[in-house]
Amino acid sequence: MLGLMQDTPLLISGLLNYAERHHPRVEIVSREGDGMEHRYGYAQAAGRSRRLASALHATGVRPGDRVATLAMNHHRHFELYFGVSGMGAVLHTVNPRLFAAQIEYIVDHGGARIMFVDPAFVPLIAPLVPDLPKVSRYVVLGGPETIGEAAEGLPGVVDYETFLKDGTDSHVWPSFDERTASTLCYTSGTTGNPKGVLYSHRSTVLHALSACQPGSFGLSAESVLLALPPMFHANAWSFPYLAAMTGAKLVLPGSRLDGESLQELISKEGVTFTVGVPTVFTMLLEHLHRTGKGIAPLARAGVGGSAVPRAMIDELAHHGCTVLQLWGMTETSPLGTIATPTPALAALAEADRADVLAQQGRVRWGLDVRIVGEDGRDAPRDGRTQGALWVRGPWVARRYYGADADMLDDEGWFPTGDVATLDAHGYLRITDRTKDVIKSGGEWISSLEIENLACDVPGVRQAAVIAAYHPKWEERPLLIIVADKECPPTRQDVLDHLQPRIAKWWMPDDVVTVEALPMTATGKVSKLTLRERFRDHLVKAAESPP
Ligand code: ADP
Repeated sequence: MLGLMQDTPLLISGLLNYAERHHPRVEIVSREGDGMEHRYGYAQAAGRSRRLASALHATGVRPGDRVATLAMNHHRHFELYFGVSGMGAVLHTVNPRLFAAQIEYIVDHGGARIMFVDPAFVPLIAPLVPDLPKVSRYVVLGGPETIGEAAEGLPGVVDYETFLKDGTDSHVWPSFDERTASTLCYTSGTTGNPKGVLYSHRSTVLHALSACQPGSFGLSAESVLLALPPMFHANAWSFPYLAAMTGAKLVLPGSRLDGESLQELISKEGVTFTVGVPTVFTMLLEHLHRTGKGIAPLARAGVGGSAVPRAMIDELAHHGCTVLQLWGMTETSPLGTIATPTPALAALAEADRADVLAQQGRVRWGLDVRIVGEDGRDAPRDGRTQGALWVRGPWVARRYYGADADMLDDEGWFPTGDVATLDAHGYLRITDRTKDVIKSGGEWISSLEIENLACDVPGVRQAAVIAAYHPKWEERPLLIIVADKECPPTRQDVLDHLQPRIAKWWMPDDVVTVEALPMTATGKVSKLTLRERFRDHLVKAAESPP
């Protein structure tokens, strides 16, 4: 027997409808590429999103068609998020930080025939045009003045404001199956070609609904959200959807993510909540340190994408901001676990409680996790036994776009490629990525844990631990640091700090100082590049001792 309740599909357009009807004047503030500030309310944003949907229809875009974007975080990209998905087409966000060949591959694989480009990225895309035969129309995200000489060579080029004139605000959002594809986003693909994750309206709405709950981000119409994750990366970690769903004020920072710009935005707009990768918070904290400024009223920040150094958690707490560490990946929409407290932690001593909360977080309803040991069985929840992390749930990918097979095991679990532990309180700790794991004499060493400790050494600004080849143990940990120019620590300072804190066989065989760590297009340390450079470091060091 079926229930007798209304069968309203969970559609992305429904989120904007809500914000338009019930929070029409709540602001979306954005910093545009030209440095200007733009403000409007949800009602106006919704009207322009509908106008965009009908203009897309007028130009021949139909449900299921992909519409590509190469753009930062601003109000026009917000309109694309809702206008494209809302009409039943698929928003394909492309990462401008990738190599040209990867951009070509991703755009071509996605199959979009129309692409929306920031004026700043026109010089990036113009030389690629001959290799993007499927794209027959380019729209530059600005007014008529943004069609400069460089843009004139783009096929069918038009500016966004002129493009909108072919549409109407009275367009009505269509209703369709909530499992319809809404957005397409490629993972950076450190090995092989990038892979497309194709989200649905249902997965997007359920993911956002879970993320804004009190045990997760705890958002409401009283929140002011600053969307730091780029809108071309994993749905900007759901920020556009979370804002519309809660009716919260949304701040879009454009392309300037330096410490000074962020501090200004936070205090000027009264930001109370944000999320981002550790690199962005490093820049912010450096600015605060230099200027003595603060970040009130920012009360909480979700930080993830790579491990959050303990020192960063403490420093942000000093500024009145609680860090909620997050773990997730493009394939998990992207939010997986979030480190929020439970009553069970109240019984712990303050320092132990802080240790638990400095991990990658707790499972929340909707996304289940499993840690599988080398024997194929579930690892004990002791906070020590490492194993492969598998996840499952309604916002986890099943198959990559264009692939011919699912990636799941027989019970529907998705292999994340991460190595983790679970503790008795249900908190997950990521110890490595499977491909970064250091296996010394058959035992796993957690590079993330050593990096975290190394970052506590005065004068260490960044740290990365990789597996270097060792003739006897096969692999041994090598610690690579970026040091503060004014007070660089010695090799011995670093080793002395680590020695009482980790097992003897985890101690790095050497410490190397570099100018900067190589980064991936998603702002993470590229261990692949480091491994290529330092694979034989220990062998060479043994041949020519200092
Ligand atoms: P990529 O960077 O490869 O494009 P993602 O952005 O999807 O892809 O990255 C997901 C990966 O980032 C996870 O599988 C995990 O290895 C890492 N990661 C995410 N959050 C954390 C965290 N809080 N601590 C450690 N690693 C993390």
